[in-house]
Amino acid sequence: MPCRRLVHSRHRGNPWPTSFRFLGPHLRGDERTKDGLYQRTDVLKPGATIGILGGGQLARMLALAAAPLGLRCHVFSPEKDSCAFDVVHAGTCAAYEDETALGRFAGAVDVITYEFENVPAKTAAFLAGRKPVLPDPQVLETTQDRLIEKNFISGLKIATAPFAPVHSATQLEEAIKAVGLPAVLKTRQLGYDGKGQAKIAKGGDAIAAWRSLKNAPSILEGFIDFEREVSVVAARGRDGKVECFEVTENEHRDHILKISRVPAKVTPALAREARLVATSIARAFDYVGVLAVEMFVVRKGRRRTVLVNEIAPRVHNSGHWTIDAATVSQFEQHIRSVAGWPLAKPLRLGRKVEMLNLIGAEVNDAARRLTVPGTSVHIYGKGEAQPGRKMGHVTRIWPR
Ligand code: AMP
Repeated sequence: MPCRRLVHSRHRGNPWPTSFRFLGPHLRGDERTKDGLYQRTDVLKPGATIGILGGGQLARMLALAAAPLGLRCHVFSPEKDSCAFDVVHAGTCAAYEDETALGRFAGAVDVITYEFENVPAKTAAFLAGRKPVLPDPQVLETTQDRLIEKNFISGLKIATAPFAPVHSATQLEEAIKAVGLPAVLKTRQLGYDGKGQAKIAKGGDAIAAWRSLKNAPSILEGFIDFEREVSVVAARGRDGKVECFEVTENEHRDHILKISRVPAKVTPALAREARLVATSIARAFDYVGVLAVEMFVVRKGRRRTVLVNEIAPRVHNSGHWTIDAATVSQFEQHIRSVAGWPLAKPLRLGRKVEMLNLIGAEVNDAARRLTVPGTSVHIYGKGEAQPGRKMGHVTRIWPR
């Protein structure tokens, strides 16, 4: 149930009059451009506060990674039972359209980041006029729309599934001619975990598929008979340096990520190609923070190559293994990036690693998994364990 403008602090017992009074402006060198947006930001000092839009498990794990660095987090979320509120220095529960609450939030933090890509454009612009927002909100304009995103990727000469826009029944016919069948029809906006998607088989009823998406502006993508799905989680610092985590192999069930495995079963050459793709995308965006690029591994003649499926401009589920099984986690890399701190070179711990998502009621007996050596359990502290809801994850490391 969304609540309105409830602003609370986790530290009411704090002897200081307000949580923020002593933080001061930690960013030096902020510059406003002519259109009022901040452009340059400097390094955060310990004690500074990072504002996070969104209060789910990603925000929670970002805040947990910020704490050992002496950085505080202030979460802004419309849902009062957001699981990130449990672990942050301060929280604002308000609608993304509530400019009074947004203004106060911006005033209380030193830099702003986000845990999800569907931050309303108006919210991002409002905040960017007051505090640095990283990654730059322009990235959201690209990644919130599958057609713009695919055009952006193709513009970098990076391969994707064949695709065509669909805005009408006539255009759907043209798209099928161009792309062929089988294909997947996807809404341009707001689709995730297979939502807003409909497969069209060879000889299938394309119009019924389009109707099932409520005739929403969509793209038609050729159905890729991929060998495996992989992702690269990459961080880019304020200095432009990029550090990629190892290529991760992902297994989905019912369109939801179930297991991530490292190392992925790919050759060193393919792993290099995948990392180069992620690096090129991060550079093209002039990105600051962590992003994930999801890819399909396909055969091309006698060799294999990758096709980009999707960009997530945020920390990503396929990078959760890095908390326990890498020398730096994706969450810490993101915090370091937005804070203007140096990035670490990530190295895997252990011979192999598996991350298993705990979905729905699976969370209820998570503790028993701790009897397996090398296993860590992360439970997100969400309310109801509804089917399909990501409630936690388990990481298992096999020693070298
Ligand atoms: P997405 O929401 O685009 O990440 O898609 C969710 C999942 O659907 C992917 O992880 C794939 O398993 C599958 N999928 C998406 N697009 C395609 C495609 N063009 N061809 C085959 N499978 C796909």
